[in-house]
Amino acid sequence: KLASREFHPDDTVIHVGDVAVGGNEVVVIAGPCSVESEAQIIQTAHAVKAAGASMLRGGAFKPRTSPYDFRGLGEEGLRLLAKARAETGLPIVTEVLSVADLDMVAEYADVLQIGARNTQNFLLLEAVGKTQKPVLLKRGMSTQIEEWLLAAEYIMAQGNEQVMLCERGIRTFETITRNTLDLSAVPVVKRLSHLPIIVDPSHGTGKWYLVPSMMLAAVASGADGLIVEVHPNPDHALSDGSQSLTFENFSAAMPKLARVAEAV
Ligand code: PEP
Ligand code: MN
Repeated sequence: KLASREFHPDDTVIHVGDVAVGGNEVVVIAGPCSVESEAQIIQTAHAVKAAGASMLRGGAFKPRTSPYDFRGLGEEGLRLLAKARAETGLPIVTEVLSVADLDMVAEYADVLQIGARNTQNFLLLEAVGKTQKPVLLKRGMSTQIEEWLLAAEYIMAQGNEQVMLCERGIRTFETITRNTLDLSAVPVVKRLSHLPIIVDPSHGTGKWYLVPSMMLAAVASGADGLIVEVHPNPDHALSDGSQSLTFENFSAAMPKLARVAEAV
């Protein structure tokens, strides 16, 4: 299989602008859950860049549990992300929710995110597989590692082999955390596949005060990168405020991360 280590023994390195994912450096993608306003995304982009992040995240199309919750700014959100990229040089990671939006999202995004609710949306996977954009493929909340790797296969079989996997926690019986972050998935994926693996400690825990320690643990487990939610004012965030780091907490975590990365 295309994603398997047997087929391709060397680690895959995915280039996004000047950023190499899967090489020697731990890549940090940071930004708000949702793009909310020009000031919010531009301020956050500058803050995460100053702290050492190398890509900007932000959702313009949001998969929300309740249809009455904020569902993103749509194309306006994509335009604001492009503006933040123009100001900071940070490549953009943003979610594509459906095949219908793909052409529009691909026009703005540097990396197409497939969210946990779409891990096995096979037609969406094939559609992103027909683009030449790098893809960040999240693990579904009830997806086994083997199923997740087969989801990557759907993308790769269409000719797009630039897939990074993202562990973001799975559903278990535990309720204190939003999800159970499965860090053992990191070395499992490393053994089975040559694709880079990113860890999302924000959705993986659901609690901002658990994020810094899971950032460090993810790097210790061998992750190629992290995707972390950061917001200028988490208490007023339109989505996922309870798991979002302030600028201060994010910048405090970054030097520690560098020390763990050095040790592994
Ligand atoms: C997100 O990244 O904001 C998101 C919705 O993530 P997930 O698909 O992992 O729930
Ligand atoms: Mn989120």
